[in-house]
Amino acid sequence: MSTPPTLEKIVSLAKRRGFVYPTSDIYGGLANSYDYGPMGAELLKNIRDAWWKHFITTKPDMVGLQSQILQHPETWVASGHVEAFHDPLVEDKVTHKRYRADHIIENWLTKKAAGLNLEMLVVEDLDLEEMAAFIKKHNILSPDGNELSEPKQFSLLFETEIGSVAGEKSTVYMRGETAQGIFTNFKNVLDSTRVQLPFGIGNIGTSFRNEVTTGQFIFRTLEFEQAEIEYFFDPEKDDWQQLMDNWKKDMWEFATQKLGVKESGLKWRQHTDKERSHYSLDTWDLDYEFPFGYKELWGIAYRTDYDLKQHQEYTGKNLEYTDPKTQKKFLPHVIEPAGGIARFFLMTLCDAYWEDKENNRTVLKLKPSLAPYKAAVFPLAKNKPELVKIAQNIFSTLSKKYHVAWDERSSIGKRYLYQDEIGTPYCITIDYETLEDNTVTIRDRDTTEQTRLPLDQLAEYLKSRVD
Ligand code: ATP
Repeated sequence: MSTPPTLEKIVSLAKRRGFVYPTSDIYGGLANSYDYGPMGAELLKNIRDAWWKHFITTKPDMVGLQSQILQHPETWVASGHVEAFHDPLVEDKVTHKRYRADHIIENWLTKKAAGLNLEMLVVEDLDLEEMAAFIKKHNILSPDGNELSEPKQFSLLFETEIGSVAGEKSTVYMRGETAQGIFTNFKNVLDSTRVQLPFGIGNIGTSFRNEVTTGQFIFRTLEFEQAEIEYFFDPEKDDWQQLMDNWKKDMWEFATQKLGVKESGLKWRQHTDKERSHYSLDTWDLDYEFPFGYKELWGIAYRTDYDLKQHQEYTGKNLEYTDPKTQKKFLPHVIEPAGGIARFFLMTLCDAYWEDKENNRTVLKLKPSLAPYKAAVFPLAKNKPELVKIAQNIFSTLSKKYHVAWDERSSIGKRYLYQDEIGTPYCITIDYETLEDNTVTIRDRDTTEQTRLPLDQLAEYLKSRVD
């Protein structure tokens, strides 16, 4: 067993091997912003596709949609975001750097709480005054050792303007979550498809939050991809607790089976009454043990009919569902599983990271279905046309179905080590024996075992292992 990786190791591998780069790196970066490199873009796509397949295409009661980042500004007034989408903020009185007050308290608790009998304190339960009092009582300072200002509410919503003529611009918000695009399209989906309750709508897309806490890599960024579901049901027919349990099981299954993460790093945490949003009757977080501790990976909330009710009131449009049998008209209730693709990505990287001391290598033990490349094709020597030709044929056949890497640089050993670090499950080498007996060497990432395989069995071999 290897020890869990530090965040530094993950950040370093991610940059070194083209998974994640700091945004605007050559300009010195932009706080809480990251770009995904060639490997990262593939892994992100594979995770997004796995989510879509698991939660949308393989379920008869689910449909997907893709809504816009910029929506009618009233959407965010109705949803309550303009009024209440805030984080508590404190400022270092000397450097003027800003921090989330709850994060400052959490960090202080992690370091200092032992022996103070504060382990049971739930930071999420504290309101602004309580945070202020706590910071004062324990004389909590900023990370630079300076006094902190009183906590104030700070809006997470980014604003921008539309309209090209000066003076005629109007403020719009960059969406803070993808969920509202589902609610505002609820009636459109009802009227344009054959869905019947209970059913769900999933939406993947970019959301924006003006996050001030830095240093958590892609866990907390200004711009991030969300994958959210609203599962609509009739509260008189379906038991919300049962539905919630079913969705919780499904989320767990996705994390452990589709993303391949070890169960030991995951746990459920129920929100306390004080912490829970006012419109929610029950909320749970699925937390993962990231290198900086257990943190929210995914949330699930029973939001009742709060959102549809709000949009109905603000638009004056009837958003009710009509039961096809009884003709009963009502606003459905929802269960909302809301996750972030970047957090799935970071969890997957951390969980797959393996320092194989025995073989002196670092390996990303990604599930083959998630790996950026399913296989790599190596001609033993690039100056031997007869080997290169066969390798090219193999590459061209396999790449019709899979993303396959081509590498003819340096020694085979170095090529293996590179592919191990990006998680390629199989490496195929075409050598002189291939010319004689039409076999290739196939090397397994996790065991390093090498076997000879007839060329005509290659496609079948991969199919049974990476699909
Ligand atoms: P946190 O408490 O960590 O700020 P949250 O409770 O505000 O998260 P939700 O509003 O429930 O998060 O959003 C749903 C999901 O979106 C989260 O579970 C997370 O996976 C993802 N997410 C939220 N904020 C960010 C962010 N700034 N960067 C990356 N992913 C995020």
